[in-house]
Amino acid sequence: MASTTPTPAELQAELHRWLEKNGHTLTSALAAEAAYDFDTCVRDELSLQQALWDSGLSRWGWPEFVGGLGGSAVLRAALYEQLCLDGYRIPHSATTLETLGPVMCKLAPEVAATYLGPVLAGREVWCQGFSEPEAGSDLASLRCKAVADGDGWRVTGQKLWSSVGTVADRIAMLVRTGDAGHKGISMLLMDMDAEGVDVRPTRASTGRNEFTEEFFDDVYVGRDRLIGELNRGWYVAMDLLQWERGMYAWQEQAHLHVLLADCARRVAVSDHATRERIEEAWTMLTALRAKSAATVKQLAAGETPGPGVSVDKILLAQAMQMVHDIEREIDPVAFALDDAERAEAVRANWFYTRAASIYGGAIDIQKGIVAERVLGLPRSAR
Ligand SMILES: Cc1cc2nc3c(=O)[nH]c(=O)nc-3n(C[C@H](O)[C@H](O)[C@H](O)COP(=O)(O)OP(=O)(O)OC[C@H]3O[C@@H](n4cnc5c(N)ncnc54)[C@H](O)[C@@H]3O)c2cc1C
Repeated sequence: MASTTPTPAELQAELHRWLEKNGHTLTSALAAEAAYDFDTCVRDELSLQQALWDSGLSRWGWPEFVGGLGGSAVLRAALYEQLCLDGYRIPHSATTLETLGPVMCKLAPEVAATYLGPVLAGREVWCQGFSEPEAGSDLASLRCKAVADGDGWRVTGQKLWSSVGTVADRIAMLVRTGDAGHKGISMLLMDMDAEGVDVRPTRASTGRNEFTEEFFDDVYVGRDRLIGELNRGWYVAMDLLQWERGMYAWQEQAHLHVLLADCARRVAVSDHATRERIEEAWTMLTALRAKSAATVKQLAAGETPGPGVSVDKILLAQAMQMVHDIEREIDPVAFALDDAERAEAVRANWFYTRAASIYGGAIDIQKGIVAERVLGLPRSAR
């Protein structure tokens, strides 16, 4: 691996060569997409993450104090795209990492220096605990409570919809440490196996246990696990959501481009109706690619994209659903009736994309943000 910071194109070329040479040792990572059991899938993918970290390739774009090699976060975006172009699925754990990692490095460098390394290296999985039964879109009303106790807090309450919670070692969670509203919220990092944590899988419509709900009964969390300042967790979460909407959209567009190209190859030249839909989806994906690239570059430069990232989320949900609808309609019989592992994976992925208009912030809410805070429309005009 070069010791001088590569350009995005140089890093992609280096990764491509590395995958050609080492890909045969990573069969489990390639197979992960088809693995129907979600836990197995997430765990298998970790071997790819570990190998990339050990090779040094995925260290670019992360600061040195967490074990990285430095350079812009744009390098991480380049790496994710090349993985997809070479036929690999971006590990689920890397998508959570891109949500939590950058904001921890920026707003809680000591916590990041102590805890982030194993996640970057694919040796730990973390999940995100924001949502509660009465606090999804209205996140500021969350009730999971952390009461000061010595040099830490005792946490009692509930979270739900934690993606990859079934395999997660730790959870980055929003808790109430102060008054009602967004100014009384803090973010903590808790071990999923701490005393008093009860983790229960939630079976999704895919048939997979993709999420968990957690019940916390007087769980102790030390002060060294506070992410950002006390009662400033809302601002940490808002910063984090920019990465969740920007880098996640970029990761997904890279995968969707490869999937759509595969669909195009499978459709007969005479099938004009489907070809037209592929063209529409391609246009949507191109818009998503341009928008998420702009967001990632802004974030990498330390800028604050702000409410405009809601546009990325809206484009992402539409593009994901369009491409997976096309994949389903190309082979409707297999989609409905086939029990082969490949058909199971296509079905599971299609179901998951239905939720793209909910997770990471429901689309109605994003449209409201764009209307009011990007376009400046009056509230009554919605
Ligand atoms: C696949 C998936 C993965 C997820 N992963 C995680 C995770 O890892 N961690 C985590 O913390 N959470 C996660 N979530 C939860 C997700 O963030 C919430 O589902 C989402 O924020 C919506 O909250 P809710 O489910 O409570 O729905 P609600 O907020 O009750 O919304 C229900 C409906 O009402 C609409 N609505 C609500 N308020 C308004 C309004 N003011 N104006 C207009 N329309 C409105 C919404 O758009 C939506 O259509 C995940 C969810 C899914 C589906």
